[in-house]
Amino acid sequence: MSFAYRSGVLCAEQAPLDELARRFGTPCYVYSSAAIAAAYDEFSAALRGRDALVCYSVKANSNLSVLALLAGLGAGFDIVSGGELARVLAAGGEARKTLFSGVGKSEGEIAAALEKGVYCLNLESEAELERVDAIARRLGRRAPVAFRVNPDIDARTHPYISTGLRESKFGVAHADAERLYARAAAMPGIELVGIGCHIGSQLTRAAPFAEAAGRIAALAERLAGRGIRLRHIDIGGGIGIRYGDDDVPEPPGGFLAAALGMLAGRRETLIVDPGRSIVGNAGVLLTRVEYVKPGAARSFLVVDAAMNDLLRPALYNAWHEVRPVRQAEQGGDAAVYDVVGPVCESGDFLARGRRLSARPGELLAVMSAGAYGMVMSSNYNTRPRAAEVLVSGAEARLVRRRESVESLLALEEPPR
Ligand SMILES: *Cc1c(COP(=O)(O)O)cnc(C)c1O
Repeated sequence: MSFAYRSGVLCAEQAPLDELARRFGTPCYVYSSAAIAAAYDEFSAALRGRDALVCYSVKANSNLSVLALLAGLGAGFDIVSGGELARVLAAGGEARKTLFSGVGKSEGEIAAALEKGVYCLNLESEAELERVDAIARRLGRRAPVAFRVNPDIDARTHPYISTGLRESKFGVAHADAERLYARAAAMPGIELVGIGCHIGSQLTRAAPFAEAAGRIAALAERLAGRGIRLRHIDIGGGIGIRYGDDDVPEPPGGFLAAALGMLAGRRETLIVDPGRSIVGNAGVLLTRVEYVKPGAARSFLVVDAAMNDLLRPALYNAWHEVRPVRQAEQGGDAAVYDVVGPVCESGDFLARGRRLSARPGELLAVMSAGAYGMVMSSNYNTRPRAAEVLVSGAEARLVRRRESVESLLALEEPPR
């Protein structure tokens, strides 16, 4: 266990979180390198013996040190912007193991991706195909591409993170795919290398994931029959993690086994692009109680982290476990609280209706905050973004300094 109590204090590996709060202040994201490596290893183990590449989805947590750790383990990367490409390269990741996804790639982003030599651009529309062909010809190259095909499968997850249905903005329609491949095959600036899908995030059951993989594999088969042979099949990411005791997802190995079953006999390289399942349970958001505010209808713990630091509860009504950093004494002064931040929005909560014993100054850890945490943070209410710390054993390293108010004002012109 990467986050466990030792002598009554919650630790990240061997580093006590109260000490980290003293050293680095709060709010603060703390990540465990061992947990990240273990999650990555689960994927490599499930794919052993298969020609496969795990492309970590950078948008889940794009800290340079997290990317460098994964690059060192041999990971490829799945990116959705030119900014993420720059991060991958700055972290020592390889362009030739990088997939570029996303519905709205700009001309500049496409040109940069081709110049840096990314492995593949995942196309999401016919208009994008035409744009990529034109840019590649102008640069005197052939762009390696795959289509992200919408398999029209209900991922049965939150509507904001469900992406594989026909009405979704993502991917090209399943019914259109063969025509698009045939058209692309005739374009001088295009080299067809693969096919992919991604049906949504925080999937808890392997069945829809495997079903999507099966539909994509069947398409690859039909394309091969028309003489279009692809190098890879990308089955996407979206494998869920455990946030609490409800709806505990199948482990990644179960997802991969089910998908591999659908791909039996296929020779293409298998690509999987997990984000949340690599980093989600590897991080916590450390926060300090500012005020205890008892009330008639609800009681509140006002803490120093807020929706600008961790948006998931406000955006998706997401549930995160909240643990006291110092293990509560039995029979203490526990009560039921909403854990809220200082931001001026009623939606600014981190957790609701939790039984906690907490006095002002006490530290809390918001668990499973390693994915879609810091990356979705903002400066709303002119709040500097939190610090990020990466732990390895007993060693803790500041991997992103806390922002300062001066840095927030720096891009604005002095008022006249
Ligand atoms: C976001 C995304 C992923 C990763 O999703 P997770 O739920 O974090 O695993 C994978 N592939 C694509 C194309 C994505 O957009």
